[in-house]
This record gives sequence, structure tokens and C-alpha cells, in this order.
Amino acid sequence: MHIPLVDLKRQYLSIKKEIDGAIQEVIDNSAFIMGENVQEFENEFAKFCGVKYGVGTSSGTTALHLALVACGIKQGDEVITVPYTFIATTEAISHTGAKVVFVDIEDRSYNMDSGKIEQAVTEKTKAIIPVHLFGHPADMDKIMEIAKKHNLIVIEDACQAHGAEYKGKKVGSLGDIACFSFYPGKNLGAYGDAGMAVTDNKALAEKMRLLRNHGYQKKYYHKIEGYNYRLDAIQAAILRVKLRHLEEWTEKRRKNAKLYDELLKGSGVKTPLEMEYARHVYHLYVIGIEKREELYLRLKKNEISTAIHYPLPLHLQQAYSYLGYKKGDFPVSEACTERLLSLPMFPELTEDEIKRIVEIIEKKN
Ligand SMILES: *Cc1c(COP(=O)(O)O)cnc(C)c1O
Repeated sequence: MHIPLVDLKRQYLSIKKEIDGAIQEVIDNSAFIMGENVQEFENEFAKFCGVKYGVGTSSGTTALHLALVACGIKQGDEVITVPYTFIATTEAISHTGAKVVFVDIEDRSYNMDSGKIEQAVTEKTKAIIPVHLFGHPADMDKIMEIAKKHNLIVIEDACQAHGAEYKGKKVGSLGDIACFSFYPGKNLGAYGDAGMAVTDNKALAEKMRLLRNHGYQKKYYHKIEGYNYRLDAIQAAILRVKLRHLEEWTEKRRKNAKLYDELLKGSGVKTPLEMEYARHVYHLYVIGIEKREELYLRLKKNEISTAIHYPLPLHLQQAYSYLGYKKGDFPVSEACTERLLSLPMFPELTEDEIKRIVEIIEKKN
């Protein structure tokens, strides 16, 4: 039996009628750009996050860029984030002209080590972007405290953490702005690219709304220069359907994670921690293991797909050689790139599949 890392088809088949109906309706109305589905999904998703405003975007990457631009981040500024994330986080910073400044992660939640932020703050620092990696929230109280002290903006990269909670509050409601991706494989995934920035700050929401659609005031009248970062109406219609199922899917992910946790006890692999402040939504189920290559190959031979998130930290990427970082600068991130392995994880993954995966893992550990 082949077990994929994620199986989007299984999920589609479970809601096919609803999805097909929603897509057909958009086509029947031929309202492809902006309109009711975009607006309603913005309201529904903002409400889901516990905030007032949502601004739909063309991707998580453009949501991050939009948020930074709306906050006035520009050339000469510095923005702090982690080297252990997807490159979209740092691309968004660079595309404003600001400089990326890294701080290491801690190895329990794999999130930003709040104890290391202050030594990276300079007079040029304007913002911090914590990433809620793998679906586990960063330690936001500490981050917000430091931000307040130094008058910094906090933009959550919540692209992997739809529905995750920090001390009972949803991610997306913790910083000044939070950015989500609806890339197909994310916990709430579109059938193409899509994203959203959410906030409680009315002025920032209005600024982002203006910027994401060419600075549009009314047709062919532009208040400012902006971008074409709009959320596609068909994607919005699909996402409205899928949002109604998200809680149920998240619970299934959590149940799958629990089963993995139990079955892997005593196997010698490090299972993901859920900090006491957190509700983890297991975008990925990531284990730590010394002999990763060997396990990866053994699982592959047994038709079980796994993945490495991420094989090279950003500070050692060729794209960032100009920043002047070197090996050894962020040891926790570097160790994680060598040890972590993502096992199959999606709501529809079955108990039998999880048992099979663990059986193969335990064969030799
Ligand atoms: C997926 C992802 C993004 C980018 O989202 P896209 O929708 O693919 O542009 C940004 N940050 C993180 C941490 C992500 O996982």
C-alpha cells in the first residue's frame, strides 16, 4: 500500500458535491474578480481568527509583502525572523527593500527563540515576523512584550497554522497583522494559489485593501500605486466551502497526531511537542531522528512518502549569501535541517496507515 505525504484527492471526494456546486455558481454568474465570495470569505475567515478584518490575497507570500508595505517597511529598515522557515517569509521582507535579520529557533516547538530576539534588535529594526511553524504557535506573549518595549510591529506568519491557538486565542489575533496561505496542501487549502492578511487594525486593513488592488478607489481612479494581489473569486468560493469543514479536519489531524505519539513511544524518535500554551494543528507531523537518511530510504522502499522541511536553513542558502551569515551562526536551525523528517499527515489518513508507518519506523530503531 502506497501512503502519500498528503492526499488532496481524498478530501475533494469527501466534499465533491459542495465544491463542484460552488465552482459552477461562480462560473454561472461569471463574476471572477472580487465580488461577493471574496468579501464573504474575508469576513468568515477573519471571524474564524477572532479579528475584525480580512484582506484576501493571491497567495501567502503576497499577503506577507502586502502587510509589510502597509506597515511602511522600506529600504533601510530591518525585519527580524527565523532562518528555519520557507523562503517566502524572507522574500517578502527583501521585496520591500528592508534587510532580513535572523534569530535562531528553539528545539521544542521549532519556533523563534524569544530569548534571542533582543540581541538582534538595532535602531533600524522595525518589525518581527514569528512563524507558527508546522502548525504550532510561537511564544507570542514574550515576542509581543519585546515588540512593545522596542516599538516594533509584529506580523505573524500563520501560513502553516490555521486554527492553532496560543493560550486559548487563535493565531491571527495575536500580532498586528497575520498572514495566511491557502496553498493547496495547507490546512485550509484552495485549488490553486490564495492567501489572506487579517488584522484588528482598521487603518491597516484599509491600506492593505487599497494596495492589493492597484490603489483602486473607483474604476480607473487610483489613490496610490499598488499591486495586483487580489484573491481569485473561484478560490474564495472553494475556501468558503472548505472553511466549514476546517474544525472537523483539524480535530482529525490532532487525533492522528495522538495516535502517532502513542505508537512511537519508546521507539527512540523524537515526537513533536505541544507546549502547554498551545493548540497544535499539525500542518506537518515532524519527527526528529539521528539516522534520518536511513529511515527516509526505508520508508520510501516501503512506499511511504515523507519529506524534509527544510533541508537547508535560509541563512546558508545561496540566495542569502550576500547577508554574510556562515555555518554555525544558528546551530539549532542547522541541527533541525539534519534531523527532522515529516511523516504523512492529513485528516483522512487512516489508523491502519499510521500503524503501518510506525511498524516500518520501528523495524530498526
Ligand atoms: C506556504 C508558506 C508561505 C507562502 O505561502 P504561499 O501561499 O505559497 O505564497 C509563507 N510562509 C510559510 C511559513 C509557508 O509555509
